[in-house]
Amino acid sequence: MMRFCPKCGNLLIAKKKRKNVYLVCRKCHREYKMKGEKLTISEALHEAKKGVVFMGKGEEIAELPKTKIICPECENTEAYWWMQQTRSADEPPTLFFKCIKCGYSWRSYG
Ligand SMILES: [Zn+2]
Ligand SMILES: [Zn+2]
Repeated sequence: MMRFCPKCGNLLIAKKKRKNVYLVCRKCHREYKMKGEKLTISEALHEAKKGVVFMGKGEEIAELPKTKIICPECENTEAYWWMQQTRSADEPPTLFFKCIKCGYSWRSYG
């Protein structure tokens, strides 16, 4: 039977782990367990793979940590920063900055 990820709608792939069969979403890396006809998310894996902090608007941005760094746009010396998983989960997340003054955002390559 075909199952789809309740979060992103991508097709779930069945994967055997010890005695259990899991359904794994290849897009968002969520992992589900079959419980009768219901899907239950297997939190452990999901939390471990997340590692993503999304940029929000308004209030959320105020909660981002700040750092002393020179903005390439306006040469302001303070910017918000956050980490984001850009490619596969195997690679380290990329560090992003967003200038407090002009709002310009850029990424750090290592
Ligand atoms: Zn998904
Ligand atoms: Zn700036």
